[in-house]
Parts: sequence; C-alpha cells; structure tokens
Amino acid sequence: MNIRHIVRRQRLLLGLGALLGLSGTAAALTQPLLIGDLIEAVAADKSVAPPIALIAGLFAANALLGAAHAYLIGRAGENIVLDMRRTLTRRLLHAQLRAFNRLEHGDIFTRTVSDTSLARVALSSSVAQMITAGFTSVGCIAAMAWIDWRMLLVTAVCLGITSAAGLALARAVRTAAVMNREDTGHFGSGLLRALSALTTVKASRAEQREADRLQDLADTARTSGVRVTRLSALLVPVTNVGTQVSLAVVIAWGMARTATGALAIADLTAFIMYLFYLVSPLVMLFMAIGEFQQGRAAIDRVSALADIDQEVSGQRSVPGDDMAPAVEFDQVTFAYAENTAPAVSGVSFSLPAAGVTAVVGPSGAGKTTLFQLIERFHIPDQGTIRVRGTDTAAMPLSELRSRIALVEQDAPLMRGTVRENLTYACPDASQSEILDAVEAAHLTGVIAGLPHGLDTELGEGGTGLSGGQRQRLAIARALLTRPDLLLLDEATAHLDSDSEAALRVAIGDIGTRCQVLAIAHRISTAVAADRILVIEDGCLRATGTHTELMEHDATYRRLASRQLTAAGAGS
Ligand code: ADP
Repeated sequence: MNIRHIVRRQRLLLGLGALLGLSGTAAALTQPLLIGDLIEAVAADKSVAPPIALIAGLFAANALLGAAHAYLIGRAGENIVLDMRRTLTRRLLHAQLRAFNRLEHGDIFTRTVSDTSLARVALSSSVAQMITAGFTSVGCIAAMAWIDWRMLLVTAVCLGITSAAGLALARAVRTAAVMNREDTGHFGSGLLRALSALTTVKASRAEQREADRLQDLADTARTSGVRVTRLSALLVPVTNVGTQVSLAVVIAWGMARTATGALAIADLTAFIMYLFYLVSPLVMLFMAIGEFQQGRAAIDRVSALADIDQEVSGQRSVPGDDMAPAVEFDQVTFAYAENTAPAVSGVSFSLPAAGVTAVVGPSGAGKTTLFQLIERFHIPDQGTIRVRGTDTAAMPLSELRSRIALVEQDAPLMRGTVRENLTYACPDASQSEILDAVEAAHLTGVIAGLPHGLDTELGEGGTGLSGGQRQRLAIARALLTRPDLLLLDEATAHLDSDSEAALRVAIGDIGTRCQVLAIAHRISTAVAADRILVIEDGCLRATGTHTELMEHDATYRRLASRQLTAAGAGS
C-alpha cells in the first residue's frame, strides 16, 4: 500500500487545515506584543480602547481558526483511515489463500481496525500539530530574539538540553510502541482462537487454561503499554522542567536588568509571556513527535499486511465449446509448503462435459486439495488444469469461478428466507430459474410443504430443514449460477434413507446438465457414479466404475467394504 499516495489524496484538506492552524497561531503570537502596547498606553495615559479591541478580535480569530483547523484535519484523518481500510480489505479479500493462511487472524484484525486508527492520528493530527506547534515555537523564539537576544540565548541553552532529551524520549516511545502493537496483536489472535472454538474449549473443560493463557498475553500487552505510557509521560515533565528553569533565570536576570534601566518593563512582560506561550507548543511538539512515532509503527504494520501476495488473474476467456471436457488435470503436482510431501502428485484425468464422477480415498488422501486446485485457491507447482479446454492459469479468476460451483460439506446456510439463501450467489435470478433449480435439486415438494413456501424464514445456520434438505438447498443455490462443473463435498452427517435417495436422484439429474465431481463418503454415491477416481497419498490410483474397481482395485475394495459404508467417514 502506498501510504504517501493515500496522504497525498488528502493534501487539500490537510494543507487548508494547516494554513488555518498557522493563521490562528499567528493571531495568538501577536497578543503579547499588543499587551506590551497596552501596558505602554496605560503608562503614557493614552486611550486603551484600540489595543483592547484588537486583542479581543485576535482572541476570537484564534478560537475560530483553531476550531476550523481541528475540523479539517480530523476530516482528512478519517478519509485517510477509510482509504487505508478500503485498500487493506480489498487486498485481504483478493489475497492468495496460501499467504493468508500463514497469518494470525487476530493479528489481521488488530492491524485493520486499531493500527489504522493509530496511523490516522499520526498522519493527520500529529503532523498538523507538529506544523502548528513548530511554527508557534519558531514564532515565539523569533519574537523573543527581537525583544532581547541575550535573554534568548540563556533560554536557548536550557531549552536546547530539554529538546535533546525530548527527541531521545520520542524515539524510545516508538520502539516501545512497536512492541506494544505486536503484543496487542498476539492478544487479539489468542482471543479469536479461543472464541472461534468456544464449544471445543467448553467440552474440553479448558476455560481456565484459556483464561490463564489470555491473561498472560493481556499482561504482556499491559507491560509494554505501560512502558509506552511511562516514556510518553516523561515527555511533559522533561519539557516543563526545562521551561521552568528558563523562566526562573529570565525573571531573575530580567528584573535585575529592568532595575538598571537596560530593559523596559513592557519588554520584560512581553518576553515572559512569549516564554509562557512557548511552553505548551513545545510540549505539544514533542508529544506530537511521540505520537507520530507510535503511528509510524502502526503504519509499518498496516503496509506490511497490505503487501500480502495477491491472486493472479489471467485474461483469456473460454471459447464457447460446449463439448470440451469440463475439467482436465495434466500431471498436476502440489505441495502446501516447500520440502513437504506433495498433497497431490502427478495427477492426470479428464472429465467430460456432463456426468457424475465420485472421488474416493482415505482421509488425508488429497481429495479436498483437488477441489481447491480446480477453484485455483492454490496454484499447482507443476502441471496444468484446464476447464473447458482453457488453462485455468490463463483465465480471469471471476470467469473460472463463475463456471464452477462449490457445495461444501456442511452446506452452510444463512439466517433469512429460503429464497434469499437460494439466490445468494445469483441475486438477479428470475422466479422460473429459481423453480427450475429447486426442481433439479428435488426440493419442490419440500418447499411446498413449508408454511410460506420460498419465503419461509430459516433459523440460524438453516435450522428448520433437515441435513439432507439443507445440502440439496445448497446444491440448488449452486445450480442457479448454471455451472459447467459442480464440486460437491458430500455431507458426512447421517442422512435418513429418504433424504439420501432424494439427494442421489438429484445428483443423477444434475449430471445430465453438467459435470458433477463429488467427494463420496457413501458407497451409494460411488455405485451410482459414471466413474470413480480413487485417490491415495495424493496420487490417482485407479479410475473405473464401481464394478470394475471392485474387481481390480484392492484399495477401493477395502474402502467400499469399510469406510464408505460407515456414515460419518472423515474427508
Ligand atoms: P482429504 O480431503 O482427502 O482428506 P486433504 O486434501 O484435506 O485430504 O489433505 C491432503 C494432505 O494435505 C493431508 O496430508 C493434509 O494434512 C495436507 N493439508 C491439507 N490442507 C493443508 C494446509 N492448509 N496446509 C498444509 N497441509 C495441508
């Protein structure tokens, strides 16, 4: 992510905000000089109305300009954070799954939500404060030099020491802040880990263990947070001590000089006022530098996340050849990580445009990986996968995925009506298309039996429908997109024999319109399929029909007699 580019887009607001801030500061800076004039007017017995009116006007201008400055800078900051979050979420959604899976999800959350907020403060208000506070400090110093450069020299020595200490502290704040951001990210990840598996945590009676682990992570974050606060808190007193020492010196020496007549009382008053004026911008300047340093740590983390590897989309569209094979694997090999055994190894097969193909194999054989390679969630290390005759690497991802429909094992449904669930991937589907898909999934009777038909509300996760009905509804949803290839991970949960039979008939019907590639957990699916791919240890071991494989393939025979018959066999 190009942060500079994002900030540059707000240059108008930031520039205008800084200009108004500077004007407000200029208005404030002239006040001590005018008060000096007021004192002289009183001493000379002249009218005090004009200087008082001018001072009041400048106070008002200062207040108004300050408010407008804060608004514009705040607005620019919000725009910056919006831009960062938009870029980040888009890049995360288009990230390669392999890169995404390497990250801790809680850390992603912290970076996207809270680091972007810190970055906003750094890039908007801290920078603006550095500009205005810097300008005020320079202005005060210039005015003080003009009034009496000798006294300024004394002040400068005290303030110089203070500034050096302030800058060193600001740098230390940054280092501590980086550590604190990391610790907060780890806490977020830990929390997400526990909450996303809360039922497992409870069932394992691990609440106390998780609570202790999270407490440790929270403690670590607190310790590094306290360190940031301690260093930040030191900034103010260090600056204050410097200015107070300068004040004491200036008052003592200044009074002595007014006594000898070397310095006018009005000048001393103005000088002391400037010194007072200098204190708060100087403190603000160092605080803003500290905040900016904290923000830089956050910006680095946000930028690093935005650099996540992106999915690569091809350009070549599929020529409209209806008879081309639905999917072909040509010597495809893929390993999840370097130096690990491939999850899919040298697999080649070709499936025609229509039909039903069952994939069977023991748990961990590589069946799910095969599906994920077709969807291009992962990229093969070797070999080519073609959909309708076109290399998937050369196809635009959106076209590839629109030609494939994926029905996952647990067929997740959402709260809402049956219709909303059906049209989720295809919101513009017409009533006749919906009815057609419902018919193909053998759901017409089921839906007719619901109290409000298609408009019946489903509970959380699709409660109100049986397991088999839920999976058929997920299939109907997939069919609405008119895929060339339906990837179906058969539900392992036990289905009653009616549901199972209905599902089997539905799959057979759909196989006449497109190719259905189903990970089979039940023998009946394999028996009914046109062909079966037997996968073992990432390799395609055998291909054939149930009868052929029962005769020739020992693995299939073993699976068919044991695993496939047992409902709930692992995938
Ligand atoms: P199946 O679906 O046949 O049970 P998978 O395709 O899920 O098998 O897994 C094949 C192999 O790849 C297994 O050895 C599994 O441990 C490994 N594997 C699966 N997913 C990942 C992953 N995200 N990272 C690393 N290894 C994985």
